Amino acid sequence: MLNERHAADRALLQALADLPQEHVPDLLALADEVRAANCGNGVAVEVLYNAKKGGCSEDCNFCSQSARFATDVEPEPLSSVEGFIDAARDAYERGAAEFCIVVAVRGPSAKLLDRVCMAVPLIKQHYPLTVAVSLGILREDQLSKLKAAGVDKVNHNLETSRRYFPSVCTTHSYDERWQTCQLVKKFDFELCCGGIIGMGETLEDRIDFLTSLQELQPDEVPVNFLNPRPGTPFGERSLVEPTEALRFVAMARLALPGALIRFAGGREVTLQGLQDLGMRSGASGLVLGNYLTTAGRQDQDDFAMLERLGFEVLA
Ligand code: SF4
Repeated sequence: MLNERHAADRALLQALADLPQEHVPDLLALADEVRAANCGNGVAVEVLYNAKKGGCSEDCNFCSQSARFATDVEPEPLSSVEGFIDAARDAYERGAAEFCIVVAVRGPSAKLLDRVCMAVPLIKQHYPLTVAVSLGILREDQLSKLKAAGVDKVNHNLETSRRYFPSVCTTHSYDERWQTCQLVKKFDFELCCGGIIGMGETLEDRIDFLTSLQELQPDEVPVNFLNPRPGTPFGERSLVEPTEALRFVAMARLALPGALIRFAGGREVTLQGLQDLGMRSGASGLVLGNYLTTAGRQDQDDFAMLERLGFEVLA
């Protein structure tokens, strides 16, 4: 059975997925206890920087940055080095401890990688930020350059279960994603690996997704909820029910007791007035709005919430 340090196995995750609605508040409270026992009271706050927007060759059905879908995202070229540094300063001044550089690509070109590797040491010289990158599928030689540049953490999401992934994306495979995640660990970066709930996956898929994450043991798991983007193949999907979203966050905490479980995109539209409860359901971090292509709520609302709940914002 459960205790605060031991991860829930598949059978227990199945039982939690099947738990009647009236018992979900008990599950959320338990996940909050497990979070406190493993992560203390600190909350890690992150800002994302979209350094190359839109025009992506891939066909992830949730994503408005794919060049294959008619969306309202206007592609923008890769940022200058100065642009990276200005964005890092903004993240620092907004109170973030972590800054994540994100680009809409299958994997980085030599030019893109060089620019990131030029910017990261300058960012770290000026601001005491944990610097993460999300650059798509990566090879060993590319990871080696990122290591030399001082990157702390690499994000690469599995997004969903292996079974459901081909219904989300056909231009690259789950194995390619899996391999990048393994290389990230091999090169001794912190691994940030999560996904999106509400893309049409079953409860079984959610459990498979969590057990895959248990195999990878990422340091951080960003949990996104689908915010259906007009023009994408998933643009007409419904939002996840708030209690199901919170149930998943709690299951993620019990599956990966020591990980940084971070609320990411879609939390405002999905949880709406339940933001406070969200932070009491096992999460230990959040991304400040704006996200890559959608706005979030105001920073002061998030910081006021964290203070009200007695959390300490990690520096
Ligand atoms: S999720 Fe990433 S890889 Fe997929 S289409 Fe969007 S930007 Fe491209």
